[in-house]
Amino acid sequence: MPRACTVCTSPAHALVDTELAGGTPLAVVARRHRLSSDAVRRHREAHLSPALRKLSLEKVRAESAEGAFGATVDRLEGLIGRLEALLSVAEERKSLIGGATLAREIRGALELVARLRHELDDRPQNVTVNVLASAEFTRAVTAILAATEAFPEARVRIADALDELDALPVGVGA
Ligand SMILES: [Zn+2]
Repeated sequence: MPRACTVCTSPAHALVDTELAGGTPLAVVARRHRLSSDAVRRHREAHLSPALRKLSLEKVRAESAEGAFGATVDRLEGLIGRLEALLSVAEERKSLIGGATLAREIRGALELVARLRHELDDRPQNVTVNVLASAEFTRAVTAILAATEAFPEARVRIADALDELDALPVGVGA
């Protein structure tokens, strides 16, 4: 007969599931509820509902990815400091080629840091919607051009005006 799960039979069962799903480390959950780590691990593998389990694993993954990002940024910043010191030496020695090479390296590292920082930054980004590229706008222009079909001069002037705005949608011509 299989051993009964001490987590499932524990009064803290629901709490343990919630904590595991929230990403609380296994050892912490076990200690908090006076359960063995092995029992909690077995319970997580075998009894945690698939949805909760997925949530728990995703949380852990996201956190470790964030940690790795942070460490990479720190190391790159250290590298930039050292490259800048070398650049000073190159400048003192009037080494143009060495200086140019170092400047390129520094620029590359700075770009990378900027990119990584941007990825770390999870605040909502401003999204610019290009109204002129929208399907609604294309339909509106098509309608205007169709409505002015009997007035070729007007159509040309409308098309010119849109052209000046750089707004004439692709595929819509006078
Ligand atoms: Zn269990």
